[in-house]
Amino acid sequence: MYLADLTSDDYAEALKKADTLIIPVGAVEAHGHHCPLGTDIFCPDVILRRLDELMGDSIFIAPAVPFGVCYDLYAYPGTATVPSDVLGEYLFYAAKCYVDRGIKNIVFMNGHGGNTAAIGLAGEKLVEQAGAVVFNISWWLDYRAEILSVCEGQGHAGEDETSVAMAYCEALVQMDKACVNWKKPLFPVRYPERGRVLYENAISGDATKASKEKGDLIAEKIAAKIASQLKLMKQGIYFEG
Ligand SMILES: [Zn+2]
Repeated sequence: MYLADLTSDDYAEALKKADTLIIPVGAVEAHGHHCPLGTDIFCPDVILRRLDELMGDSIFIAPAVPFGVCYDLYAYPGTATVPSDVLGEYLFYAAKCYVDRGIKNIVFMNGHGGNTAAIGLAGEKLVEQAGAVVFNISWWLDYRAEILSVCEGQGHAGEDETSVAMAYCEALVQMDKACVNWKKPLFPVRYPERGRVLYENAISGDATKASKEKGDLIAEKIAAKIASQLKLMKQGIYFEG
């Protein structure tokens, strides 16, 4: 169910069956010369639409938080960035409203690597201060096996992300401007010009191999995996052995 589509009365009724709120967290950020600035909002949306079909009235899906932590690619036009502590607090307070009044499980569906620290901070406080159960998903990292069963490689605005953006709306992706960048960091070092030199043209990987069909398949496989994980989470089954 989509939270924002419900009335307050409908929500109160639906809360009798649903104990899980998914909050997508995106970014407005340059994605090569070919993908739209909203790619990190659109890709989680593609996956969550399929998840909604699989899980129906057992989960709520919140509207996406649009702005993220994008200091690396702030050099490119159209990109916005907010600090991790600001986003982390915002996510914590927004999610806590629901945890305090009936929601047990919070799932942050992250669409953007720079948001990881903020989501980690929010999750930590939700568990410690609100007693929530929190599941942080970064789709391109956590479901790498599913993605690499469809794509040859991954990257920022690369084959996988461009494919999922095409599954969102093919008309928004300008494949004639897709390019390749195989620069890789030698170790996880940060420096002021990293965005410009490492993510040259605001891309990593090979966007030219992307297709809508690959995007549909990736979204389908990831949604199925998340559905199986959420079913366990709703039963309180978090480990084996
Ligand atoms: Zn992205």
